[in-house]
Amino acid sequence: MNLKCRCGNVLSNAGSPNGVEHMLISDYSKERLQDAVDRDVRANGVIDSWWDHWKQSGALELWMCLNCKRLYVSPDASGEKMLVYSIENVQV
Ligand SMILES: [Zn+2]
Repeated sequence: MNLKCRCGNVLSNAGSPNGVEHMLISDYSKERLQDAVDRDVRANGVIDSWWDHWKQSGALELWMCLNCKRLYVSPDASGEKMLVYSIENVQV
């Protein structure tokens, strides 16, 4: 998948791992992720479905432009609606 940033840079998740895709995880989501992993390990002895656990946790996927550092967040994981965040200020 490709996404053209407002700065003109094209973001892509073609290579994996990459520096474009990130996960934004709340404290609640972290707890749900840990619970899902614990259940999986108890039931199967291994972590069998990382992607399902991430989805169930409610963590948000975000893409970061490596050129301007804008963040593109899909609030419902559909990719249809994107929240765009850009740097407002840099404090030293
Ligand atoms: Zn950009």
